[in-house]
Amino acid sequence: MTRLDQLTASRRGFLGMAAAGGAAMTVGAGRAEATRTNARILIMGAGAGGAAMANRLSERLDGAQITVLDGRAEHWYQPGFTLVAAGLRKANYAVSSTEQWLPRNITYINEYAAELDPDANRVTTTGGQRIEYDYLIVATGLVLDWDAIEGFDLSMVGPENGISAHYASPELAETSWHAMDKFTSEGGVGLFGRPATEMKCAGAPVKLCFLAEDIATTKGNRAKCEFIYNAQAQNLFGVPVIHHRVRQIMDERDITYRYQHVLKGIDLGAKTATYTTPEGDVTDRWDFINVIPPQRAPQVIRESGLAWADRWTDQGWIEVDAQTLRHARFPNVFGIGDINGVPKGKTAASVKFHVPVIEDHLVAEIAGREGTARYDGYTSCPLITRIGRAMLVEFDYHDNLTPSFPGLIAPLEELWISWLMKEVALKATYNAMLRGRA
Ligand SMILES: Cc1cc2nc3c(=O)[nH]c(=O)nc-3n(C[C@H](O)[C@H](O)[C@H](O)COP(=O)(O)OP(=O)(O)OC[C@H]3O[C@@H](n4cnc5c(N)ncnc54)[C@H](O)[C@@H]3O)c2cc1C
Repeated sequence: MTRLDQLTASRRGFLGMAAAGGAAMTVGAGRAEATRTNARILIMGAGAGGAAMANRLSERLDGAQITVLDGRAEHWYQPGFTLVAAGLRKANYAVSSTEQWLPRNITYINEYAAELDPDANRVTTTGGQRIEYDYLIVATGLVLDWDAIEGFDLSMVGPENGISAHYASPELAETSWHAMDKFTSEGGVGLFGRPATEMKCAGAPVKLCFLAEDIATTKGNRAKCEFIYNAQAQNLFGVPVIHHRVRQIMDERDITYRYQHVLKGIDLGAKTATYTTPEGDVTDRWDFINVIPPQRAPQVIRESGLAWADRWTDQGWIEVDAQTLRHARFPNVFGIGDINGVPKGKTAASVKFHVPVIEDHLVAEIAGREGTARYDGYTSCPLITRIGRAMLVEFDYHDNLTPSFPGLIAPLEELWISWLMKEVALKATYNAMLRGRA
């Protein structure tokens, strides 16, 4: 077997499909015979999870009335935001139209859900439409709580103020690049970090710090720049083996890291940031700061009764079974993607593994059988360490590394092939997933 054959044969991980080439991206699609039903299925959200589910279910179910609700007419390819914020892509790289990803035989309503009553199986939209459902798939993703950062608002992002907020939107990721470009040219203190809540793509704050350090080095300005990474916990990454590797790289590259430092507020006039720490507040001066705020379930979900009552109470993630992704108290409700209250899996790569599980349980139930598929916590994050180098870290609920290409791509090595996965292959795989083909 050649190296390429071996790569092609591996389908385990998120990127397996892309490495195999576009022609192979039809696994599962259209193979199983469609199940007849007139069930009303409502999908709240048409992002990574919602679009993928709409495509899969419209193929698997014949006659189902599938409605997709999403008030944002633009689809955002969020893994691309990191590349945009590092000046490697323009904002439009991460933007497409929501509608283009949805199948023809469903109803798309370009409104948000404003109220959800899971006892009555009913959702009311922002435009006042009432939609009743037999099955609900919650795919709303999460909201970024910018207001939780005292003294900050998104109008401050840009080179004039030295502020980056690359999670906010494709446009603000591009504006963030201009701030990073200025900092890595002129020098000064750069502050990076992550919030204390659960968050999507927990590797993204680290990636941005590594990219900035690399860009400063390439420009010949490294000596003028100081890099400080503020972790919210007693580690730099929640999976111990990845934490040790990230720490090693930060040590090698003279990036200062601090534990249990959570951004509380900024003072634009003084150009300072305040962090809460176990020893009390700490205030630092900055020339560049990347702000990533606390992340929570959208308000409509927090108020719906679907959230956990005794876990993540300030965040509102929904109470699904970690393996089946079915709601613990409302069995006709499933959660996909970032909204789920499970210990891992807030990545697009995880969504790919959520899709077949929900599909299996939902279609089985409609057909009068019991679903058997299980989600094991698969989470993946191509951890960029420099332009042209990344580590393809993949892991499960138990912090086991679950490499897609065992023996071929070492997960903790900084490799060009892993960089290509992020820079080139990830988008093709993501798009295939949206179409229900991965
Ligand atoms: C900077 C950054 C870098 C990332 N890098 C990676 C990476 O390298 N690899 C990776 O796998 N993942 C990465 N991710 C994470 C990934 O993008 C998300 O995990 C993924 O998009 C989650 O899919 P989702 O369907 O849950 O949510 P989303 O894709 O965010 O979609 C949610 C949708 O729900 C809609 N919605 C919200 N509220 C409502 C409502 N009330 N009613 C109806 N619709 C609603 C929204 O408009 C949106 O379209 C990154 C994310 C960011 C921000």
